[in-house]
Amino acid sequence: MMLPPLYERPPRPLAMARWTITKFLWWQGGLWIAVGIVAWNWLTPSLESFATPAAWAVAAVYLRNVALLIAVAGGLHWWLFIRRRQGTRHKYDERWLSAGRRPFLFRNQTRDNVFWSLASACSIAALYEALMLWLYANDLIWTVPATGSLAGFGYTAALTLLIFPLGSVHFYANHRLLHTKHLYRWAHSLHHRNVNIGPWSGVSMHPLEHVL
Ligand SMILES: [Zn+2]
Repeated sequence: MMLPPLYERPPRPLAMARWTITKFLWWQGGLWIAVGIVAWNWLTPSLESFATPAAWAVAAVYLRNVALLIAVAGGLHWWLFIRRRQGTRHKYDERWLSAGRRPFLFRNQTRDNVFWSLASACSIAALYEALMLWLYANDLIWTVPATGSLAGFGYTAALTLLIFPLGSVHFYANHRLLHTKHLYRWAHSLHHRNVNIGPWSGVSMHPLEHVL
């Protein structure tokens, strides 16, 4: 197996930096940043609406999450699994998704995956976001330097880039924890029922896993 330069010994710093920018950040990282900019500027209620927790503001964030997930996972599912426009090209497992099988909710893998994604993933993500915005709105968390200032730009830029390595480390630690005996049986096995994955399988998880 080819290891990314990040793990090569002896280290080659230039190759590492090039790999990090061109493979690790670009272009999916760029796409996530773009979605973040659009969501924050046009698809999120104002910070003031989170100062005292307003149910409608949390509901708006939840509905935004649902709409985004339907657009991305639903769009890919429609194109690749309903229209089957690529056939089995690039498909890891040649079989199509399972219907009428017992381990899945409603005995249907797609419905099971859509249920856990929309009911659990989107709502827990909305609650986390509302909590964070409530902390910001009330100055209860280390505040962001004023927007428009050089410090504000530096802070935002550093955080935007840091989120990728931080996210990777968090993903590793949290996933390793979920593969311990009890947590796997209680929670994580729900996600791994998806041996043959589809676009809706990505965040189809037990609520405990979404919290982590
Ligand atoms: Zn796992």
